[in-house]
Amino acid sequence: MAPVPELPEMQALAERLEAAVGGAEFEAAVPISFSGLKTYSPAPESLAGRTLTSVGRQGKYVVLDFDGPRIVFHLSQGGRVDVESPPKSSRPKFGVVRFLFDGRPSVLVKEFGTEKKAGWWVLEEGNDGPMAGLGPEPFSDEFAELILNGSDGRRVHTLLRQQSTVAGIGRGYTDDSLHRAGVSPYASLTSLKPPERQALLHAIRSVLTEGLVAERRRTGGLPTKVGDHWVVHNRHGTPCPTCGDGLRRVSYESYEVTYCPACQTGGKILADRRMSRLVR
Ligand SMILES: [Zn+2]
Repeated sequence: MAPVPELPEMQALAERLEAAVGGAEFEAAVPISFSGLKTYSPAPESLAGRTLTSVGRQGKYVVLDFDGPRIVFHLSQGGRVDVESPPKSSRPKFGVVRFLFDGRPSVLVKEFGTEKKAGWWVLEEGNDGPMAGLGPEPFSDEFAELILNGSDGRRVHTLLRQQSTVAGIGRGYTDDSLHRAGVSPYASLTSLKPPERQALLHAIRSVLTEGLVAERRRTGGLPTKVGDHWVVHNRHGTPCPTCGDGLRRVSYESYEVTYCPACQTGGKILADRRMSRLVR
């Protein structure tokens, strides 16, 4: 299963798109899949002839700003992006939408797999659309306050992935952040002492920062295989990069949590449904 692009992947992608098509005149958005466009009004055609003033990111959304109105897209799990130079007009099987700009490369949003969750929105000025419910960004003071002083009783692994709590983090950077902080995926925020909360905040931000540095080495769009710089996530069974013990996992229906017992849970092996099924 393809890893989900998170803040570092989407931020660096937005920067590459800004370099590729920023300042260009928008020609058209050509829908390729039926279900990709999530808004009825304004129509994509209404933006033709406008200048793309900037490309940014909010949470896991890439935001194309046309000096007020915006086009926003979200890749979910299987969504990826091609920067096409010269621009193309084909209708690839996995295509979602293609954005065309005057004299510049075209930008193709595509989606692999059967989930079909990638989407795009055309928003009039002032409408945040799907971004309205997003929580603070990981580098904001608001997020620091939540981690250092918050009384959220949920498991840290859960709250870090909740986009309404903090925007842009998913399973990959959560696993790596908790490992770096030496915090169990099952720990709640309220169970952590002040120095542990400090270590957690620092780990989250440094893991994201290093991810962004790695993502900025890419060129073009966004390839299928992301997350190649994760050191813990999806690497169960391999040696822990810190202590050398074997990394363990807890399996869920469609994903797994990876952790190091020695570094994060005081040696305790967390119950794994897949494992107990085998034992029985
Ligand atoms: Zn370890």
